[in-house]
Amino acid sequence: FFLQTILVGDSGVGKTSLLVQFDQGKFIPGSFSATVGIGFTPTGTRCTAVFISLFQIWDTAGQERFRSVTHAYYRDAHALLLLYDITSKSSFDNIRAWLTEIHEYAQSDVVIMLLGNKADMSSDRAIRRDEGERLAREYSVPFMETSAKTGVNVDLAFTAVAKELKHRA
Ligand code: GDP
Ligand code: MG
Repeated sequence: FFLQTILVGDSGVGKTSLLVQFDQGKFIPGSFSATVGIGFTPTGTRCTAVFISLFQIWDTAGQERFRSVTHAYYRDAHALLLLYDITSKSSFDNIRAWLTEIHEYAQSDVVIMLLGNKADMSSDRAIRRDEGERLAREYSVPFMETSAKTGVNVDLAFTAVAKELKHRA
């Protein structure tokens, strides 16, 4: 038995980097090759025992051509971490489309959290924090800005999801 958590959002927003930062506590610069629904059980030293025993995280590719694969994973998901990149307006604008898709395919009680990633790149910021907050409020989901690079709020985001899942169990 695993709590299935899926990372979703446009390609390049930092899904794989966030997962690596959470698991290993480090940032490996450069793009990772696109991955399709890789089942990943955290094993890194940064992860607490509860995560290792309970969580399986699926890192998705984000590309249109893999969408049908992702749909199948939505159904079994307990939680979804929905990411945009604070320096990319298109990745933020696409959040609505992701949410529409999530509401279509995921269970109605799925835990969703909106994350504005790359918070360290404030000089290139395209989306203000309050814009992220407003969108999150509109959909009644919690919101945080994260950085896979510096690690800011990464543990907090995964922990918040875990707490919410425990709360609902
Ligand atoms: P994915 O396609 O969503 O899995 O995105 P990746 O994890 O492959 O990251 C895409 C690019 O953004 C890579 O060059 C990463 O090094 C970079 N990146 C990811 N997260 C951050 C972050 O929080 N800050 C900065 N500065 N760069 C990041
Ligand atoms: Mg990736």
